[in-house]
Amino acid sequence: MEDGYVAIHSPNHNSRPFFSAVDCVVLHATVTETADDAVRIFLNRRSKVSAHFVVARDGRVIQMVPLGKRAWHGGTSRLGRRANVNDFSVGIEIVNRNDGSQPYTDRQYKAVAAIIRRLRTEQHYRIPPERIVSHRAIALPEGRKSDPRGFDFFRLRRLLARP
Ligand SMILES: [Zn+2]
Repeated sequence: MEDGYVAIHSPNHNSRPFFSAVDCVVLHATVTETADDAVRIFLNRRSKVSAHFVVARDGRVIQMVPLGKRAWHGGTSRLGRRANVNDFSVGIEIVNRNDGSQPYTDRQYKAVAAIIRRLRTEQHYRIPPERIVSHRAIALPEGRKSDPRGFDFFRLRRLLARP
């Protein structure tokens, strides 16, 4: 799923476990000013972090890890009974300071919704609304992460509910 997106490949990824069907999206805030800053971090091997997608303030989307591969965005994590959320999720990093001072842009909401639509229609991933989650919700130990602070999940759900 790289058509229509700028692809800049991060070295920070590996194989998903054989049995892991992708059924979850984890949303993050980059805690950077710009998409370029986030891309630079994900291109640095020593950072050992990445995400499948970076969504810039203007809604531009950069794909950094192929969907079939495991990106390194969740860290130690759990969703429901399953640990290691990176195994079965798509990670989307949205450019935002994450300090509560900066609203997410309309274009970012639309871009995130468009990515999730494509995951469902083109990749046939079964991603129910309740499995579109924040990094905060899955990070262990609890309280380790706060991102994406201020992101309106209800607004995203409304966008996704439209035909
Ligand atoms: Zn995060």
